Amino acid sequence: MADRILLLPDNIANQIAAGEVIQRPASAVKELLENAVDAGATEIKLFINDAGKALLQVVDNGSGMSETDARMAFERHATSKIKNIDDLFHIRTMGFRGEALASIAAVAQVELRTRRVEDEVGTCIEIENSQVIKQSLVAAPVGTSICMKNLFFNVPARRNFLKSNAAEMRHVIDEFIRVAMSFPSIFFSLTSNGQQIFYLEAGSLKGRILQILGTNYNAKLVAVKEDTDYLNIYGFVGKPETAKKTRGDQYFFVNNRFIKSAYLNHAVMNAYQQMIGTDSFPAYVLFIDLDPTQIDVNVHPTKQEIKFEDEKIIYAFIQAAVKHSLAQFSITPTLDFELDASIQGLDSIQKPFTEERQTAIKEGSIFQTFTEANQAHKVMSGEVNSVIRQAQDDNFVVDKGSSSTFVSLSKQLLDMDERVVTPQPQTTQQQSSFSNVSHLTSNEAAAPPAQLFLSYILVPYADRFLVIHQQAAHERILYDRLVAALQGRPMATQRSLFPATIELTPVDAVLLTELLPDLQQLGYSIEHFGKSAFVIQGTPADIDTGNEKAALEKIIEQYKHFSSELKLPKREVLLRTVAWQQSVKTGVSLSEKEMESLVNDLFACGQPNASPSGRPTYLEFKKDGLEKMFMR
Ligand code: ADP
Ligand code: MG
Repeated sequence: MADRILLLPDNIANQIAAGEVIQRPASAVKELLENAVDAGATEIKLFINDAGKALLQVVDNGSGMSETDARMAFERHATSKIKNIDDLFHIRTMGFRGEALASIAAVAQVELRTRRVEDEVGTCIEIENSQVIKQSLVAAPVGTSICMKNLFFNVPARRNFLKSNAAEMRHVIDEFIRVAMSFPSIFFSLTSNGQQIFYLEAGSLKGRILQILGTNYNAKLVAVKEDTDYLNIYGFVGKPETAKKTRGDQYFFVNNRFIKSAYLNHAVMNAYQQMIGTDSFPAYVLFIDLDPTQIDVNVHPTKQEIKFEDEKIIYAFIQAAVKHSLAQFSITPTLDFELDASIQGLDSIQKPFTEERQTAIKEGSIFQTFTEANQAHKVMSGEVNSVIRQAQDDNFVVDKGSSSTFVSLSKQLLDMDERVVTPQPQTTQQQSSFSNVSHLTSNEAAAPPAQLFLSYILVPYADRFLVIHQQAAHERILYDRLVAALQGRPMATQRSLFPATIELTPVDAVLLTELLPDLQQLGYSIEHFGKSAFVIQGTPADIDTGNEKAALEKIIEQYKHFSSELKLPKREVLLRTVAWQQSVKTGVSLSEKEMESLVNDLFACGQPNASPSGRPTYLEFKKDGLEKMFMR
C-alpha cells in the first residue's frame, strides 16, 4: 500500500489554526484593538460593515511598523512582544503569541497600511489566503490601519456558522466596550454601517464608565481603591439602588484584561449582602492589578478565564475592598436608600419567571404551587392536612384536566427554544379541558366579583369559585392581542402632542433600533433621532402609558431581563415584555366594571389558564371540595 500521510499545505494549516483565534468578527475586533493598544496608540477607531462580516477596520495612531515588520507581522508566531520564555512571565502587553494577524490573514482579505514617525513613506500590504498579493510604498499617516474584508470568504463552513448581524454586532460591541473600558486615556470610536455608535473622548475611568453605561450612573458610583503589596484594586461599584434585574453592567479586569469569573463575582455579591435582593445585580467595574508572575498568562488568549496563583487571597481582597467602599458610602443612609429597598421588594414580587418558578412549574401541579405559595398546609394540623390532601386528590381543584394541560403547556413554553412562535394552537385535548370553563364569564357569576389583597379577583359561581390573578390574567389578554397585531393589523397609534425625547446608552440604542419595526406594529411610533436619542411620536391608542419615557425605559429593561433569563426568539421576548409592561400590576385597585371586563376578556382567550410566561392565571375551587375540607 502507498504511504498515506501528507503534510497539509500552509494555507489550510493556517485556516485550521485560525479557527482557534478568530471565531467570529468580535474575535478580530478584540485582537486588532489590543494590537493598537499595545502599539501605544492614543486614538483608535473601529469601522464595521454588516457586523464585521463584510468589513472590519481598525485605525490607530500608534507606533506603526517598518516595511520589514509589516511583512513579518503576518507570519505565525511573529511577535515583537516576547523574546524568551522568561518574558512570558512578565508580560504586560495584551498580546504576545503572534497568532492574531496570521490567523486573520488566513481567513479574510486583508489590507495593512502603516507608517512609523521616522519613516517618510508608509507600507501597504494586501493579503489573501495567507499570501501577500501586493506590497507597495504609500503615503500614510503615522500609525496603522488594518482592514479585513469578507471574513471566512474561503471557509464557507465557518461563514455559515456565523449568527445574524444583530447577534454578531452584539458580540462586537461587547468586545469593543471591554477594551474601551480598560483604557479610558485612549480615544475610541465605533462606526457601524456609516453610523457612529460610540465616540469616547479620552478622560478618567469614571468618565469612561458613564460614557458607556450611561450618565444615569452619575452620582451613583462609589469608588473602590485598596493598594496592598500583593495587589491593587480600583474601580467603581454601583450604589445598591442601581442594582438591576440583568447582569449586564459587571466588569472585571485583571492587569487590564477583561475576565469572567463566577468566583470573583461572588466576592462582590457577598460584599453587597443584605443591601440588595438576591436576584438583583449591582453594577461594577473593577480592576485588579498584580504582579504578572502571580497569574498564569498561558491560558489561551481567547479564553476569558484566568488562573491565579492564589485565588482565595484575591477573593478576600475584593470582598473587603468593596465592603469597605460601600460602608463608607452608607455611613449616613439617605432616605433615598431606604425608599429603594422597598421598591426592590416590589420588583422582586413582580419579577417574572425565576428559576425557582420554572422548577416549581415543571415539577408540580397547580395545586402544589398554590398550597406551597400560600403555606396553607403549614398552619394546619397533620390530621386536617391529610384530609385536605385527600380533597386535593379527589377534586378540590376541579380543573384537573387543565392543570395537567397547564403543566404541559408551560413545558412547551419552556422548551420553546429559538423557534418561531405562533400563538399556541389548541389541540383537541386542550379544547376539551377548557370547555368546562368557557362559560365562566362574569355574566354567569352568582355575585359581583370582589378584589382580594389588591391582587386577586374572586368570582363566585353556583357550585364553585375562581381566584384570578389580576396581573397574570391581564398579561395573557394583552399578549394575545399583541400576537394578533404582529400578525395582522397593527395596533392603532395615538400621536403625542408633545413628543418626548429619550436618550439611551449606545448599547440600548442598538437594541431599541432592532426592535423598532415590531414596536411600530404594536402601536409605538418611535423615531431614531441622532446617535442614541429617540423621539416617541406616539403610543398605543387604547393604552394609557402615563409617562411614555418611563414606559419605554421599562420595556427596554424588562426586555433585557427576559432575554438574559429565557432563550427565546426576539419577538417572543418583545411580546412578553410589552404585555408585562402594559399589564395592570398587583397592588392596583380595580373597579367592579374593570374586574368584569378582565374576567370576560380572559375567558375569551384561547388559553385562559396560563400567563405568557406559563404561570397560572386563575385557580378554580369546587364547593364539594370545600365541604370535604370541613369534613361535611
Ligand atoms: P501579538 O500581538 O501576539 O504580538 P499579532 O499577530 O497580533 O501578535 O501581531 C504581530 C506583531 O505585529 C505584533 O507583535 C506587533 O509587533 C505588530 N503589530 C500588530 N498590530 C500592530 C499595530 N496596530 N501597530 C503596530 N504594530 C503592530
Ligand atoms: Mg496581538
